[in-house]
Amino acid sequence: MPAAYRGNYISGRFLRPVKAEELISEDPGDLLEPVGKVHVSPEAAEGALQAAAKAFPAWSQMPLAGRIQKLRRFQQALRRRQSAFVTLLAKEAGKPLAEAGREVDRLIHKVDEMVTLGLGLVRPYSVKSERGILGECRWRPLGVLSVIGPFNFPAHTPASHIVPALLTGNTVVFKPSEYTPFVGQWLAECLDEAGLPAGVFNLVQGGSAVGAKLVEHPLVSGILFTGSTATGQAIKERTIRQPQKCLALEMGGKNAALVFADADLDLAARESASAAFSMAGQRCNATSRIILERRMAKKFLEKFLQAADRVQVGYPLEEGVLMGPLISHEAVAKFQKYMKLAEEEGYETLRPGRALGTWGERRGYYVTPAIHLCESPPKNRSRHYRIEEIFGPDVQILLAKNEEEMVHLNNEVPYGLITSVFTRSRSRFERAFARIDTGMVNFNRGTIFSSGKLPFGGTKASGSFKPAGLFSPYYCTTPVALLEDRRPLAARPLPV
Ligand code: NAD
Repeated sequence: MPAAYRGNYISGRFLRPVKAEELISEDPGDLLEPVGKVHVSPEAAEGALQAAAKAFPAWSQMPLAGRIQKLRRFQQALRRRQSAFVTLLAKEAGKPLAEAGREVDRLIHKVDEMVTLGLGLVRPYSVKSERGILGECRWRPLGVLSVIGPFNFPAHTPASHIVPALLTGNTVVFKPSEYTPFVGQWLAECLDEAGLPAGVFNLVQGGSAVGAKLVEHPLVSGILFTGSTATGQAIKERTIRQPQKCLALEMGGKNAALVFADADLDLAARESASAAFSMAGQRCNATSRIILERRMAKKFLEKFLQAADRVQVGYPLEEGVLMGPLISHEAVAKFQKYMKLAEEEGYETLRPGRALGTWGERRGYYVTPAIHLCESPPKNRSRHYRIEEIFGPDVQILLAKNEEEMVHLNNEVPYGLITSVFTRSRSRFERAFARIDTGMVNFNRGTIFSSGKLPFGGTKASGSFKPAGLFSPYYCTTPVALLEDRRPLAARPLPV
C-alpha cells in the first residue's frame, strides 16, 4: 500500500503545496510497487525559512534543559515507531533490512551521544587573567540552518546534523533526498510528536531547485550538507559571495583497504568484501580499492573472491540479503559506464559488474558485484575509473611492492574519507597512519565501521574540515569571547 503523503512541514503543521510538481518515490528493488507520491514546490522553501527565522530567538534563548527535554521526546517517538520505520527505510532506500535496522538504532543513540558527550564539547568555560580580569567562552548558535540529506543514509545522516543543531539552539529547515521523501516525512512526524515550538524544525520536499533556495537564501546562516562532492562544490560556488555562511560538507570517498603481507588474510578478505558490497557499495565509506603487498596477493585474492562470491544479492526486505539494488536508473547507467572505463584503463576483470534488471519476480535496479585487478599502474591512459567515486558495488585491486608504494596509492585519489589498514604489526600501522591523508583510519577493521562517539569526516574532496559525528556541535555554534573587568575605575591602569 502506498505511504500516506502529508505535505511539507512548516511552522508546526503539515501543508500540501498548491502549485506543485509531482514526485514519485520508487522502491528501487520493486518498481511495480512505488512507495508513494509527494508534491514539490520551490516556493515552499521561503515559508519554511521564514518560519525558522521567526522561531529562532525564543528557541535559542530557551534553557538548555528545555531543549534537551524536547529532543528526548523525539527519541521516544523514534522508539515507538521503530519497526514500521525500518521497513519504510529498507523499501525506499533499497537498503537491506538488517542495515536499515542498524541505521534506526544509530539514530536513536544519536540523541544520547549528543546530550551526554557532544554538548560537553561546547560547554562554556571561564578564565581569570593575572590582573583579575574575568574571561568566558560561550557558544552561540548560528541561526537558521539548512540541512540537505542524501539518499543512502536518509535518516541517520540528516539527524546527525539536525539533533546537534537543535540542541545547540539553532532552528532548521530540512530537505531530504528526492529519492527518499517519505523517510524525510517520517523524521518530521517524529519531531512533530516531540512537541517542538512551531517553526523550530521544518521540512520541505524537492530536488536541486529546492536545495539551491535553501543554500542561497539570505536568512540561512549555515548549510549542513551530506551528499556527493559535485553537489558540495555547487553549494560552495553558490555561496561564494556569502562568506559568512557556515558550510559543513560531508561528501564522497574512494576508500582503500591496505593489506600487508603479515595481515590476518581471512579477516582482511571478509571485512573488505562486506565493506565493498554491503548496500551495493552505496556508502561514502565503502571500500572501493584494495591495495595489496604484491608477495601475498595471490593468497589474499583467493580468499577475497570466495568471500565476494558468497555475497547475497536480493530484495532488501528478504532476510539474509547483503546487497540490494542501486537507487535509480541513472545509478545503473553510471555503474555500467565505469565498468567499460575499467577495461579501457587496462584493468583485468575478475568479476564483471552486470545489470540484471530483475531479481526473481521483481523488476529493479539490480547489479552484480564487480572486481577488477590492476597489476601495475596504467600509463598514458585516462584515470576516471581509477580515482573517481562510482557509488556502486565495485572494487579495484591494486598491487604494490612495499609500504611506501601502498601509502602512495592510498593517497593518490582526490578523496580523503577513510582508510583501513590490515597488519599484525602495530609499528607498521603507526608508520602508515602518520602518512595516510584520510580523515579516518581503521586498524584491522573494514572501512564501513565508525563510532558516534568520535569525529566523522574526510579531508580533500571528501569534506570541508568540519567533521560531523560527535564533533558536529562545533560547526553548529560559534565561540564568543566575553571579557569582564570588575576592578574599580581607579584601579585600572590606562592603556599606553
Ligand atoms: P547528491 O549530491 O546527488 O544529493 C544530495 C542532496 O543534495 C540531495 O538532497 C539533493 O537533492 C541535493 N542537491 C542536489 N543539487 C543541489 C544543489 N545544487 N543545491 C543544493 N542541494 C542540492 O548525493 P546522493 O546521491 O543523494 O548521495 C550520495 C553521495 O553522498 C555520495 O557521494 C556519498 O559518498 C555521499 N555521502 C557522504 C557521506 C559522508 O558522511 N561523507 C555520507 C553519506 C553519503
